[in-house]
This record gives sequence, structure tokens and C-alpha cells, in this order.
Amino acid sequence: MPRREVAGLLAAICSSTFPPLVSRISPDPHPMADTTLMDKLVSLCKRRGFVFQSSEIYGGLGSVWDYGPLGVELKKNVKDSWWRAMVHARDDIEGIDAAILMHARVWEASGHVAGFTDPLVDCRTCKARFRADKVGDAQCPQKPSKHPGEHSTCDLTEPRMFNLMFKTFMGPVEEQAAVVYLRPETAQGIYVNYQNVLNASRQKIPFGIAQIGKAFRNEITPGNFIFRTREFEQMEMQFFVKPGTDGEWFERWREWRMQWHQSIGLTPARLRWHQHGPGELAHYAKAAFDIEYEFPFGWNEIEGIHNRSDYDLGRHQEYSGKKLEYFDQAGNERYLPYIVETSAGADRVTLTTLVDAYREEEVEGETRVVLGFHPAIAPIKTAILPLVKKDGMPELADRLYHDVKRHMPAFYDDAGAIGRRYRRMDEAGTPYCCTVDGDTLKDGTVTVRDRDSMQQVRVATDNLVAYLRKQVGG
Ligand code: ATP
Repeated sequence: MPRREVAGLLAAICSSTFPPLVSRISPDPHPMADTTLMDKLVSLCKRRGFVFQSSEIYGGLGSVWDYGPLGVELKKNVKDSWWRAMVHARDDIEGIDAAILMHARVWEASGHVAGFTDPLVDCRTCKARFRADKVGDAQCPQKPSKHPGEHSTCDLTEPRMFNLMFKTFMGPVEEQAAVVYLRPETAQGIYVNYQNVLNASRQKIPFGIAQIGKAFRNEITPGNFIFRTREFEQMEMQFFVKPGTDGEWFERWREWRMQWHQSIGLTPARLRWHQHGPGELAHYAKAAFDIEYEFPFGWNEIEGIHNRSDYDLGRHQEYSGKKLEYFDQAGNERYLPYIVETSAGADRVTLTTLVDAYREEEVEGETRVVLGFHPAIAPIKTAILPLVKKDGMPELADRLYHDVKRHMPAFYDDAGAIGRRYRRMDEAGTPYCCTVDGDTLKDGTVTVRDRDSMQQVRVATDNLVAYLRKQVGG
């Protein structure tokens, strides 16, 4: 939805006297980015195969990223965890997978054609472009210790509104009637299918519809790695409730969503609530809270929980001419349901897990880099390592590897000194390393090393799968 259709902001932009830009900065205690940590993370992500720049051999495509072998597993684990919590573990939520392309009227009804806009300002001196409402988070390209507009030579334009939807044409003729948009959010695919799901699933209100899928926004200032990109995935759930019960459901969903972020291992002290104030709240929303995470570049939204009232179904009813009211048999009444929405970014949450997991430690005079992922989201759960490439150890390790691999993502590595192999696995965030050594041949046990404590225990090979499954929760 037009989440940036912020009544107060628009009013200010449209008025002739736009207040000083810096005064509309959110009260962010981290005005400048800790670029070192982000730089290290970006480089680790490339080196270890989490995230690559799109079309890199052609010089790259700005702010578009591809997930490598470890990244695709990590992001999939995040999405699977969300799906389990939102769909499989509940009786009152159904999943769907709607198409990216939708009827153009959908985006008129939703308000995106008229209002899905960001205010942008250009600097006439350095030609850089900024989101007017995020100037306080940006660095002046001429003097990075200052914000745009603060340096003596800065010459910012008045804010102009810019529609964020990607437009294309359906069929061979590029004319207005053939315009379609790449969806800027997945929610509308849920609203327009609300009655189909209701009829097909025989759910009753209160119930929800969940979806994970791609969304596209022509962001003015994408950046911070995969935090803000132009193509991304959302994990959205719309919960349909009887008007009057929306307040209670809103509070429940706030609690459940915060719990979920902690369940995938995010540090509670780095999570907080941000309540949308009157100037931020979309005009139709009754209440909105963001879950924010403390990134190296400041506190930022990772998920929004919104009480959207009956705005969405009301608009689709009006624009489509189809009745979207719900008949409540128990109460013998008809009403347009209210919607409580939970909307998280899969890529943004994946970035959050990377930032939260990254740590450097001094071990025996060397720096050890660890991605301390919660085992549930770690891309590789265990590595099987023969201590040396002789005495039958590789053969035994290979057999164990194939046993374990049937139960969880595992990795076989026999290259280099064992210490270096442990470090490689620490960097990939692998919670357990199992080493086949001389004793394995004698007593049938392997060394299992814990990534975080680096403690080692011996486990019988017969019991290895059961032991690892218990540890990683598989
Ligand atoms: P922001 O203020 O950061 O632009 P928003 O308020 O527009 O976000 P929503 O429309 O509420 O975001 O989208 C829900 C979620 O989708 C966000 O919390 C975020 O996790 C994710 N998201 C939104 N825009 C992007 C983007 N450009 N890149 C990656 N994820 C995004």
C-alpha cells in the first residue's frame, strides 16, 4: 500500500513553504553508517557465496543482488520458518501464491497509481538524488560527515513526487490500455482473492491469508546492500476480522510477530517497536507499528504491523463493483471485514540475520570470523571432515557425510589443515563440525565441535544423525 502516502508529509510537500529538510529526519541515534562492518559483511557474502551483485561481469546492475549457494539456503530457511509459523502451525491461516502481474485497476483501487510516491530532492551541485524524508540518514557526497543540504555548496531542489511502480506493457502494443505494473507489494493479490479463499477453504472470520512473493519498487535511494533494493521478496499476511475486534487482534499480532523474530535468533535488545505518529500514519490506517532492528547504519524497519480498517476491501468493492461483504451466520449480519496486516521483507530479514550473526573473536592470537546463526536458519547444519587424507578416514567420512546429508544440509571438506577447515565453517555459520580421526577407526566415535563454544565431544557414528538432529532441531 501507499505506505509513504503520509498525509502530513504530502501536505507539507504540496504547500509552498516546505519546512527545513533536516527537521523531518526520524530521531535516529546513528546518523552515519558503520561502514566497516557492512563492508566486511558484503565481502564475506561474496567470498562465501551468500550474495553476489547482479550481472557483475557486465559491471553490475545497481542495487540488484543475486543469492549464491549459501544465501539461497539462508533466505529459504527464513521464508520456511515464516511459513511454518504463519500457515502450517495455525488453523486459521491459508497460503496463496498470486501472480506478479495484476489488472491495472487493482493499483488504482489500492491508491498506488495516485499516491505510491516518494518525495525526492536533487542536489544541483553534485547531481546526487535523495529521498526528502531520509535526508537525515544520507551522507553528502561532497562531505560525508554532513547530511545533504548542510555543506556550503549544497544546492537542493524542492521535493518532487516520484511514483515508485515499475510499468510495462502487456501484449505487442505499447499503449496506455496495455499498461501493467510489476506489483509493488504482495498484499493486493491477497485482497482480490479473499472471497475465493473464503469459499474454497471454508474458513470463517477471523482468518488470514499468507503469501511470500516478489515485489518491485523503483526506489529513489536503494542501498545498504540488500536492505533496500528495487526487486525484493515480501512475506505478508492479511488477517480478516470483525470490525470492533480489530484492536485485540492487532495487539496479538504485534506480540506474535516480535516473538517470531526472536525465534529465528535475532538479539532481543536489537529489536524495538516504532509506533507511527499522526504525521506518518496513512489516512486509512487505525494504527501502525514497525518492528525495527539496530543495523550498523541505524535503527530501521524490518516489518510493519498495520490495522488497515476496511479500507482495502472497501476500495476493491467500489472499483470492481463486486460485493465483498462477509455474511456472519452466527450473528446473522453482514459486514466488510477489517484487516490486520503483518508485512516483512524476506531479503531485509535475511540481511538482519547476517548482521546479527556476524562476530569477530580473538582465538589464540588470530581473528576468528563467525556467523553465529540460529541452527534453524543456518544454511549448512554440519560439516564432515576427515582429519587427514589417509588411513581410510576419507572413505569413512564420505560414508558418514552421505548418511547425514539425507537428514540435513551437510558439507564434506578434506582440503587443508583442520583448523582452517573449522574457520571456513565458522564463517559459513555451520553450527557443528564432525571430524573423523584416528580414534574413529578404533572406537567408532567422531569429534563433534560446537561452532560457538568450540567445545568438542565424542559421539558414536551410529548415533551421529540422531545427535545432530537433536542439536539442530531437525
Ligand atoms: P521503508 O520505509 O523502509 O521504505 P515501507 O514502509 O515502504 O519501508 P512496507 O511497504 O511496509 O515498507 O513493506 C513491508 C516490508 O517490506 C518492509 O518492512 C521491508 O521489510 C520490506 N521492504 C519494503 N521495501 C523494500 C525494499 N525496497 N527492499 C527490501 N525490502 C523492502
